[in-house]
Amino acid sequence: MTSFAESPAHSGSFGRTLAAVGWAREEGLPIQINTTISRRNLRDFDALVKVIEGLDPVLWSVFFLVPTGRGRVSDMITSEEFEQVFAKLYALEKTAPFDIKTTEAPHFRRFVLQRRAAERRNGTSGRVQPVVSPSNGRITLDGIGRAPRGINDAKGFVFVSHLGEVMPSGFLPISGGNIRRRPLLDIYQNSPLFVSLRDTSLLKGKCGVCEFREVCGGSRARAYAITGDELAEEPFCIHQPATAVQ
Ligand code: SF4
Repeated sequence: MTSFAESPAHSGSFGRTLAAVGWAREEGLPIQINTTISRRNLRDFDALVKVIEGLDPVLWSVFFLVPTGRGRVSDMITSEEFEQVFAKLYALEKTAPFDIKTTEAPHFRRFVLQRRAAERRNGTSGRVQPVVSPSNGRITLDGIGRAPRGINDAKGFVFVSHLGEVMPSGFLPISGGNIRRRPLLDIYQNSPLFVSLRDTSLLKGKCGVCEFREVCGGSRARAYAITGDELAEEPFCIHQPATAVQ
């Protein structure tokens, strides 16, 4: 397989996408880049970062694969590889002149909190400094402060399908109701599915006893995709809670 770094940079849909980004920038439109991390592009991560830095986006939205729809379990990266990507994002976040947001990786919040605690212990922490974009003067703050309570599927997020079905996310295909029969707010606030997904006492496995469950809670979509149970533990988290039964 030709790697991302080896492929002709301006061919096919990739080249057309880069051209569209260039046109948008010429018109002064802010750019958001969405990237899904999977086994197919993991080895290209560093090359991807270089491309994204050159595009000067406002936001890099980093999705982690959920094996639903066309996503395959065989394309998942391992729990250890999640940590490696988290480490790279954590380092990049400190210097990049754009925001970084993760999707379907709530355990990145756990990673950040653990890293910060370790840095405080060894005296290498400091206040998070704002980064100023050299090209447009835009100020970027550390992204984790943006949603301190931890957005997750059904928790600060809702997905409405083209048929009106209200789901906890676009990657968790269970409906809490339909907006043609029930108001969206009512479904979000009161449907048993949404209520249960926000109740961390219902989480199973190690997520249920994890000290980070309020800020993380694991990807409910990935738990459902792998086990069929939306309350099962996140299948791709390396963390072993202190209170977990071995
Ligand atoms: S065990 Fe679950 S709640 Fe704890 S950090 Fe991992 S994914 Fe998050």
